[in-house]
Amino acid sequence: MPLFRLVNIKSTNIQFLNIKTNMSNQNKDIYTAASYVKRDAKDNFYLSGLKCIKCNAIFLDQRTVCANCFSKNQFNEIKLSNTGTLYSYSIVHRSFPGIEVPYVSAIVDLDGGGTVKGNLINIESKPSKIKFDMKVKTVFKDALGRKDKEGNSYVSYFFEPL
Ligand SMILES: [Zn+2]
Repeated sequence: MPLFRLVNIKSTNIQFLNIKTNMSNQNKDIYTAASYVKRDAKDNFYLSGLKCIKCNAIFLDQRTVCANCFSKNQFNEIKLSNTGTLYSYSIVHRSFPGIEVPYVSAIVDLDGGGTVKGNLINIESKPSKIKFDMKVKTVFKDALGRKDKEGNSYVSYFFEPL
């Protein structure tokens, strides 16, 4: 947990204030790999999105302008569905060092709105096994076992066949 030290230089007595920050309000010892991966009061993870008040378009994550009607700052935050259909995919054979290949990079249209890119897991990386419009669900788990320098792991999201 980051610690910031603020120094009050106006005072002759220098004051040190230690302010603990919790980067993801409700998550204590669990870190998420993206700002839009959130946890509800029952500790269930979900993808967070925005719904445009003017035209009802739905987007993943934060934004200031609606890509559909160009309204500015006219959004309500919503919980996106954890099911959807596979819109498109690519089988990735070359990636960054240390990333196991092949894997399936997918674009999923979530039920109720929102289009999200993520990895499709628990399926063979073969075109014969992957069908367009197949039903998938969002799963949240440790981001492929990778850890930061302090040993923290991060929860990320994936898709798997329903
Ligand atoms: Zn809009």
